[in-house]
Amino acid sequence: MVTESRSLSLEGFTFDETWEEKRERAKRIVEILMEVHPREKLLIGDPYRTLIHCIISQRMRDEVTYKVWEELFRKYGDIETTAATPIEEMQEFLRKQGVGLWKTKGEWIVRASQMLLEKYNGKVPEDINELMKLPGIGRKCANIVLAYGFGKQAIPVDTHVNRISKRLGLAPPRVAPEKVEEYLAGLIPEDKWIYVNHAMVDHGRSICRPIKPKCDECQLRELCPYAKGLITDGDIKGENRSRWAERAF
Ligand code: SF4
Repeated sequence: MVTESRSLSLEGFTFDETWEEKRERAKRIVEILMEVHPREKLLIGDPYRTLIHCIISQRMRDEVTYKVWEELFRKYGDIETTAATPIEEMQEFLRKQGVGLWKTKGEWIVRASQMLLEKYNGKVPEDINELMKLPGIGRKCANIVLAYGFGKQAIPVDTHVNRISKRLGLAPPRVAPEKVEEYLAGLIPEDKWIYVNHAMVDHGRSICRPIKPKCDECQLRELCPYAKGLITDGDIKGENRSRWAERAF
């Protein structure tokens, strides 16, 4: 049966559920994830620092990102100093710290800081569309700033959230991250959105790993179409075209 919510189709990944049943299952999944991966306090920090962290973190390991991020704020301190730093100097700083894409990121960091000062009075905007106007800030980073910088209900879809949502049948297997966000927002109660990213990231690192997920150890296995063989990584990567190619998500 095909039902719709917020114009999102369940066709092709119903797993014999109505939208309401899928919503119930999604709620239960998030509750279990919150129990399994609790975090005493969600990281509600400084929006500007969160934004700079997100720029540095793109295609970088967490440990390296954190080290560079700390060093950047030790050296440049605040938004005014960063905005006044020559782009070449920032690029050189990042290069010496071993940051990939140092040229692009160096320019983004300085230009985003300048734009915040010039257009937003030095304050990071709380609006996703305004955030996405800043250099280097795509939808994922904008949602990270909202969730972790401002503590607002938002669902940043990174590689872990994308993969796990599809394995769990909470989004169709072949949609882009922006669409995954829409499905999750339609299925998960809004007061739980802020937990989704950190819980799925923890789950993706420890249990639902990209290769060989530990389904036997996973507390979600009874709720998971992947564990039941109803969906595969091949479906998500687009290798099983005969099963999914004709579906329009
Ligand atoms: S049962 Fe397996 S695929 Fe499903 S969420 Fe758990 S580890 Fe991931």
